[in-house]
Amino acid sequence: MMHDDDAQPGYPSVLTVLGCDGGVAGGKSTSSFLLGERILIDAGTGLSRLGSDKLLAVDHVFLTHSHLDHICALAFMADAVFGLREQPFAIHALPATLAALKAHLFNDVLWPDFSRLPRQGSPTLRYHELNPAYEFGTLHLRPFQAVHSVPAVGYVIDSPAGRTLLSGDTTITDDYITAVAALGPLRWLVMECAFPAAMSGIACLSGHVSPDGLAQLVQAIDHPGLQVVLTHLKPGCEREIMADVDGRLALGPRLHYAQPGMQLAL
Ligand SMILES: [Zn+2]
Ligand SMILES: [Zn+2]
Repeated sequence: MMHDDDAQPGYPSVLTVLGCDGGVAGGKSTSSFLLGERILIDAGTGLSRLGSDKLLAVDHVFLTHSHLDHICALAFMADAVFGLREQPFAIHALPATLAALKAHLFNDVLWPDFSRLPRQGSPTLRYHELNPAYEFGTLHLRPFQAVHSVPAVGYVIDSPAGRTLLSGDTTITDDYITAVAALGPLRWLVMECAFPAAMSGIACLSGHVSPDGLAQLVQAIDHPGLQVVLTHLKPGCEREIMADVDGRLALGPRLHYAQPGMQLAL
C-alpha cells in the first residue's frame, strides 16, 4: 500500500471529467479524469482542459493502458511542467504500459526522454509499476483487471461515501461481470460503451463494450443507489448508442453520459 498523507486538501472526493470521447472529431476529446487536484487517471487529449497551474499540481498519473487515446497528452504535460517542478511527477501503470511509453513515446525520437530531463537525478517524471493499492487522504484507489487488446486495468476508488469503478477500456466477459459483482454495491460505475449494438462484433474483437454487454453487466450489479456514467462513445455513433442503451436499460435519472467538465462527487 502506498500512502500519501501530506496534504488532505489535494484529495477531495471529486472526479472531474476532462475528456471522455472515443475520438477527437468535431471538438471531441479523449479519456482523462482528474481525481481531486493531484491525481490524473489517463492522459488523453481531454487533458488540454487543464491550465498550466493545474497541470503543475498533478503529482500522480495513473494509466489504464498504452493506447494513444489514453496517453498522448502525457507528452505535452511533461513538456509543460519541465523544469518547473521540485519533484518529478509519477506515472503509475502496468509493466507493459510503462515499457510501451519508454520504447515508443519518451524514446528521444517521438519525444524527449523526460525520465532523464532536465537532469538524470532530478527528472520531470518517474515510472512506477502499479501497486496493489494506494491511499490518498481518505481516498483509496486500486487497479482492477480489464479485458482489452493490450494489457489494461480500470480503477476502483473508495471514498467515505462509497465505491466507484472506472472501467478504462474493456470488453464484458462472464469473468469480468463476476469480478465487478464481487466489488459489492457500487455508487458510481463509469463505464465505456464505445460501439452501438450493430457493431457488437467489432466491440468484442477490439476489446470494447457494446450496449448488449453493458446491459448484461448492469443487470448483474444493479441496485437503487447505482449511478451509471457512460464514456468513450464513438464519435458519430452517439445517438445510436444512446438509443440502444435506452432500449436495454431502464435506469432513468441514474444513467448519465460523461461530458467534459462534469464532476462526480464520489
Ligand atoms: Zn484502448
Ligand atoms: Zn480508448
